[in-house]
Amino acid sequence: MIQLYIPLNFLGVIYREIKQSLADMERLFALLEENREIADAPDARPLATHGATVRFNHVDFSYEAKRQILFDVDFEIAAGTTTAVVGHSGSGKSTLSRLLFRFYEVGQGSIVIDGQDLRAITQDSLRAAIGIVPQDTVLFNDTIEYNIAYGKPGASREAIVAAARAASIHDFIESLPDGYASMVGERGLKLSGGEKQRVAIARTLLKDPAILIFDEATSALDSKAEQAIQSQLKEIAKSRTTLVIAHRLSTVADAQQILVLDHGRIVERGTHPQLLAADGLYAQMWQRQQAGVQDESEDGEPAQLAL
Ligand code: ADP
Ligand code: MG
Repeated sequence: MIQLYIPLNFLGVIYREIKQSLADMERLFALLEENREIADAPDARPLATHGATVRFNHVDFSYEAKRQILFDVDFEIAAGTTTAVVGHSGSGKSTLSRLLFRFYEVGQGSIVIDGQDLRAITQDSLRAAIGIVPQDTVLFNDTIEYNIAYGKPGASREAIVAAARAASIHDFIESLPDGYASMVGERGLKLSGGEKQRVAIARTLLKDPAILIFDEATSALDSKAEQAIQSQLKEIAKSRTTLVIAHRLSTVADAQQILVLDHGRIVERGTHPQLLAADGLYAQMWQRQQAGVQDESEDGEPAQLAL
C-alpha cells in the first residue's frame, strides 16, 4: 500500500496548499502542464496586447452537460478599467475568472482580448498576460526573493527590489537577518497576513501583467488591514484591465462597471450610484451589508479552485 499512500498524501499536501488561493492556479498549471486538457491550436499565436480590452461575447458555459452555469454572459472591460462582479454564492462569479484564464473552454460565444479569441492564442502567452492577486497568499517554502520572483522567472535583483519597494515591503525585508535570502513559508519565517499580501503584490508588480484578476476571499482580516490592502490594490489596478470578483460591496463602489450575476445571468449592470438608483438586487445586497446583516446566501467561500 505504500506506493499508493505516498502519492495520495503528496497530492493532499499540494491540494491544501493551493486550494485557498487563486494565485496558485498558476502553480497548478505548472504542475499539471503535462496533462493539460486544453491544447493550443496548431496555429496558435502569442497574445499581443495593446491596453487589453477584454470581451465576453454571449458566453454560455457548463461544467457538466446537464447543468448550465452561465447564460448569455455579455460584457466588455475597456482597456485599463475595472469591472467588478457581485452576486450570491454559486452565481458563477469565479467561473468567469476560470474561463478568462482558459481553465475551461466556453460553450457558446467567445472570450476575446484586444480582438484575439482565447482559442487562437497560446496559453503560455495568455497566462503571462494575466496576474492574479489573491487575498490569502500561500508562500512557497523558499526565500523571499524566490517568492517575489516567482511571477517572472529570471528577473534581475534590481527588478525584484524595485517591485518590493513599490509594494512597501522592501524595508521590512532588509530588516530581516538574511534579507532577501530569508526563508519563508511553513518551514521558514511566518509572515503576517499583510506582509504576505505585500509579497503577492510585489510578485504581481514584477510580472507586470496587462490584465488583473482579483478574486476576493472572505478572510478574517480586520478592517484596517482590509483598507490597506484595498488601497494597494487600487494602486496596482491603475492602468490595468481589472476583473474584481467581490464579496464585500464596499470594495467595488468605485469600479467603472459593476455586473450583478444571478444564477449565471447578468441581471443588472452599471456604476454603484446607478445600481443603487435602480433599486434592484444590488441595492438590496448593499442595504443588507450596510446594516451588517450576515447573509448566509452571500458568497462566503474562499476563492477556491474546482479541481
Ligand atoms: P461563485 O464564485 O459565484 O460562488 P462559481 O463560479 O464558483 O460561483 O460556481 C458557479 C456554479 O458552478 C456553482 O453552482 C458551482 O457549484 C458550480 N461549479 C463550480 N465548479 C464546478 C466544477 N468543477 N464542476 C461542476 N460544477 C462546478
Ligand atoms: Mg467564487
